[in-house]
Amino acid sequence: MNSKQNILLIYTGGTIGMMEDPESGSLVPFDFAQLRVHVPELRRFDCQIEAVSFDKPIDSSDVNIESWERMAQMIEVNYDHYDGFVILHGTDTMAFSAAALSFMLQNVAKPVIFTGSQLPIGQIRTDGKENLITAIEIASDTENGVPIVQEVCVVFQSKLFRGNRTHKYSTENFDAFESANFPALAEIGIHIQYRHDLLLKPNGPLTIRKAFDDNIGVLKIFPGISNSYVEGVLSIPGMKAFVLETFGSGNGPTDSWFLDALRSATSRGIIILNVTQCNKGMVEQGRYETSGAFEEIGIISGGDMTTEAALVKLMYLLGLNYNPVDLKRILLESISGERMSG
Ligand code: ASP
Repeated sequence: MNSKQNILLIYTGGTIGMMEDPESGSLVPFDFAQLRVHVPELRRFDCQIEAVSFDKPIDSSDVNIESWERMAQMIEVNYDHYDGFVILHGTDTMAFSAAALSFMLQNVAKPVIFTGSQLPIGQIRTDGKENLITAIEIASDTENGVPIVQEVCVVFQSKLFRGNRTHKYSTENFDAFESANFPALAEIGIHIQYRHDLLLKPNGPLTIRKAFDDNIGVLKIFPGISNSYVEGVLSIPGMKAFVLETFGSGNGPTDSWFLDALRSATSRGIIILNVTQCNKGMVEQGRYETSGAFEEIGIISGGDMTTEAALVKLMYLLGLNYNPVDLKRILLESISGERMSG
């Protein structure tokens, strides 16, 4: 590790920095000074570590668009002063926030590493210390003076993942995250073994865009779904886009009422992005008859994107006010490594 690295910890909250409230017995966030008390190892790093914190640390279930803007803002104002960033975040919505930052920070040339933990850092069996220490190590790792990681990632347990490919799959395991459709960017053992061939490289100056549009929703289909439910959801006033969570490789019912409801939505200019309910694999519209009509209706294939990445990408692109033709084209492209281009 290079001894001259400056790392900024951005503490947003989450289990890693929680303790039991003596009155209610629930886990509540504590302030960052406590974190330093619980991780004296922070003083032993060769690099310079400084920290900033949300004024009021939050459980990540309270994360919203403003929280993403605040995280991006903290990186923006500190970008030139630090070599890498570690964002301490609750696990519940970390995949969404990592996706959001990956879109907001186009051409980021420094590591932005999200991590958190399943057990609070004050508990004896905590996974938080290891995750935090590994995240700092990766955020400060360079090769020939250049950061090895130049993208937004999640470090959890023994893996470094591309942030917008992650999904929290376990409430129980210490390895709580998976990246089912994209290999880990590093395996963390005695050595940190990077997949240099997979890591993103910037191809221009950093641009930070912070506008998101929240006029979107998720329509998850299920056997027995009713006409009134589908029509009700698709006609919510003001909605601009939906993630349609479908079966298998992108399939849905062939009932005419269902296809008519989707057709009516797309003809009103509503964007519908098809992602699979399966954890692994991708949407292939037209592979089965049950997705054949989707292409003709103008539904866009989300390919191998996670629901988290698809949802946040829609919010991000709608916030940038693209015209419908460009919006559809960019949805099919990878802009931050979030999908196979389709
Ligand atoms: N509810 C917590 C959060 O997301 C869970 C965690 O951090 O693991 O903030």
